[in-house]
Amino acid sequence: MAASENICRGKILICQRVVLVLAMEAVSLKSDPMTTPYVNHPRYGNLPIPSEFSFTADEIEKGHWRYSTLRYLSNTAIPADTSKQYFAIYPRSIYVDIEEQCELCGRLFLFYALEQKYWFEKLQFWIDAHCTRCITCRQKNQNVRKMQKCYQELMKKVIKTERETTQLKAVTLELYQLGYIKDTGKINHMS
Ligand SMILES: [Zn+2]
Repeated sequence: MAASENICRGKILICQRVVLVLAMEAVSLKSDPMTTPYVNHPRYGNLPIPSEFSFTADEIEKGHWRYSTLRYLSNTAIPADTSKQYFAIYPRSIYVDIEEQCELCGRLFLFYALEQKYWFEKLQFWIDAHCTRCITCRQKNQNVRKMQKCYQELMKKVIKTERETTQLKAVTLELYQLGYIKDTGKINHMS
């Protein structure tokens, strides 16, 4: 009887401790910005950026034809300078932080209003372009393109210096690990 009581008490103590730990975790979850569901952007972070302007949902959705079908964060909307945009019929009069899902890794990310301003006014991308990949996958892709170019150039060279051979091995291995080179023979041949 006493033994089972002790076991029970022990269990209760453990339960209390678990509850306490869970409660502490809940508090830290609430206050920890790292728990945001969004992929971190090196320039803009991983939280919506509140704007000093205030637009109604109706105003925002009139800002671009796609907005009514997207998940956006209305308190982040900023006005656009349509004179700097590249468009055929409809410009984008408002930019707003848009929630997107990366087509490569499946994670959620924000296509920031400020990022859009840069894309559409500074770089003058086509106004209907939208961001389908998170920053991590975009960076990875840039590196891959650089590596593929480097790989092709080094492969063309009949005579390579020791440094170039080492570089080629590294690039080939990296491309292989990322799945861009399927032929393991290419790796084995060099090692
Ligand atoms: Zn991604």
